[in-house]
Amino acid sequence: MTPGKGSGRDTALSERPALDPPSWFTEQANVQDPSITERFEDDWPDCWAAAADLLEWDREYDAVFRGSEEPPFEWFPGGRLNASYNCLDRHLPERKNQLALIWEGHLGESRSYTYRELYREVNAFAAALRERGVTQDDVVTVYLPMVPELPVTMLACARLGVRHNVVFAGFSADALAERMERTGSEYLVTCDGYYRRGSAVAQKNKADNARIAVEQAVEVVVVDSLGLDVHLGEGYHDYDSLLERHRGTDVEPVPRAADDPLFRIYTSGTTGEPKAVDHTTGGYLAHVAWTSQSVLDIKPDDTYWCSADIGWITGHSYIVYGPLALGTTTVLYNGTPDHPEKDRLWELIDRYAVDVFYTAPTAIRAFMKWGEEYPAEHDLSSLRLLGTVGEPIDRRAWEWYREHIGGGECPVVDTWWQTETGAILVSTLPGVDEMKPGSAGKPLPGIETAVVDPAGQAVEQGTAGELVVTRPWPGMPKSLLAGERWGEAATRGDEWRYYPEDGVVEDDDGYLTFLGRVDDAINVAGRRFSTMELESTVAGVPGVAEAAVVGADHPTTGTAIYAYVSPERGRSEEHLREEIEAAVADAIGEMATPREIVFTPDLPKTRSGKVMRRLLTAVANDEELGDISALRNPAILGELRTTTSNR
Ligand code: ATP
Ligand code: MG
Repeated sequence: MTPGKGSGRDTALSERPALDPPSWFTEQANVQDPSITERFEDDWPDCWAAAADLLEWDREYDAVFRGSEEPPFEWFPGGRLNASYNCLDRHLPERKNQLALIWEGHLGESRSYTYRELYREVNAFAAALRERGVTQDDVVTVYLPMVPELPVTMLACARLGVRHNVVFAGFSADALAERMERTGSEYLVTCDGYYRRGSAVAQKNKADNARIAVEQAVEVVVVDSLGLDVHLGEGYHDYDSLLERHRGTDVEPVPRAADDPLFRIYTSGTTGEPKAVDHTTGGYLAHVAWTSQSVLDIKPDDTYWCSADIGWITGHSYIVYGPLALGTTTVLYNGTPDHPEKDRLWELIDRYAVDVFYTAPTAIRAFMKWGEEYPAEHDLSSLRLLGTVGEPIDRRAWEWYREHIGGGECPVVDTWWQTETGAILVSTLPGVDEMKPGSAGKPLPGIETAVVDPAGQAVEQGTAGELVVTRPWPGMPKSLLAGERWGEAATRGDEWRYYPEDGVVEDDDGYLTFLGRVDDAINVAGRRFSTMELESTVAGVPGVAEAAVVGADHPTTGTAIYAYVSPERGRSEEHLREEIEAAVADAIGEMATPREIVFTPDLPKTRSGKVMRRLLTAVANDEELGDISALRNPAILGELRTTTSNR
């Protein structure tokens, strides 16, 4: 591979030095054979039996895939299985005393569960839910922080064949009520409260308000997380008392059809209103188990840690279902990375000798901002593989992650996927593929994508376009299996395709570099610039911790580029301004030089840590903000309005 192919233009994206996977990693990797892609290609769709065969089926599927060019599609038709059985029961003969779950609280309190203990708790709670009258038509809403009772509730639901709908614990009562009403959910599992950055959040109060706000009657189970003296009135139950009553009961896992729903989840709400997504039992679990094994390289003996919140799809797939399906030890952390100190995560990796760590670019950029001395204080040599997901990761952050967390040794996988895809679709296979910092990699074996223009026509290699997924995949949700599509995607062309609405450029090796949301691309005087290309150039300037770039109206030039920049501590803004302008002019061109550079201590972000560019555009244009329920730090908007208009 020669460096410098990239987007085919002389831009920041075109310098792509490739790194081979280290041989010590390849020798132990779950996937070592580079011909896997070819084999999957020759054998599609039957290649996906490799994923299904990681699971235990109560009834073997009749075919791997059924469908023609058009939906409806079916994965593993005829097959029946239970997700809780696959994550617990089947591991007991070999691993009953191995840890399934290590939980660490915000101030160092901890609890762990062996597979046998987790099995018992899940069975007892499943028995309790069954006794409360929960049936397969119900949806159990779960409004819990990162406590062990969260995965226990999910697995108890799965055991009964009942859908769960986990709502991120930091959401407001209104956001909870809206989701419960949209799903018609009549059961809610929550807790008294929890600590966030040292202060208590009154979770039950929020749950009470949501319960009053929804039309349907709701039964509530309350976990005692903080020992608060909360009032449990009519319709409320105490989790521990329920559990006590059913301790020792074994609940027969209910086999579900492969395409029966396992759970409902809503998308993050970064670009607009959150969308409801229903994932299947067989296809989803197979895809998640297979990618946990081949991309995250998880082995049963590993201690594995994904630092996402279970409230997002990443936590569902890669804290709970994937790792437990493979029988590994998964870490659950209820706290923030900077409390009590900014070395909290590194302390935990050191203490538990974590083998594989999976996090998000937003977290990595925060670690960079805080400084490399925090990880340097700890022994991180247990780490074998690092992963990232959630947003494009620029080269500088990628390299920092590998250097300062991975000791310059660990491979890094940049995994692209979405709530709607259920599991990873694009990534390198860490034992087989070379890595190109800043580029996610190829579509996984068995996944087919294309890059198209707005009319849906394939663009030339090296030209930026929109990603489309051109073949079904096992983790696809129910609505896509049935042929419903989201948003505008439905109106484009006749051929079946899924439009994730992400911009991308493909290099000569088939590697995909993500350029940001299609809707965020900036058009200046007829030229399109990707947010990722601009942002990674700005973020590449030493002293810049984080940057977001949007197009907004300008009285003289029409659309102009606005850069919002969060500097590292102690940097001179005037100096940075010049450096940023020079870097953009140099890497992309004079035309792309930001018209305005606004310095800010923080950027508006979703509760899952993604930059909400539409709010920056609204601020720059002095417009209405629209739905900000997903916004984590509303205070920053007032500050930005002032700095943007005073510029
Ligand atoms: P909403 O759909 O409600 O606007 P959202 O798209 O942020 O919210 P998610 O499903 O959590 O909700 O996020 C998926 C999106 O995150 C992808 O479409 C993509 O834009 C981005 N993303 C995820 N992983 C990567 C990655 N490795 N590289 C680039 N972008 C990524
Ligand atoms: Mg989305």
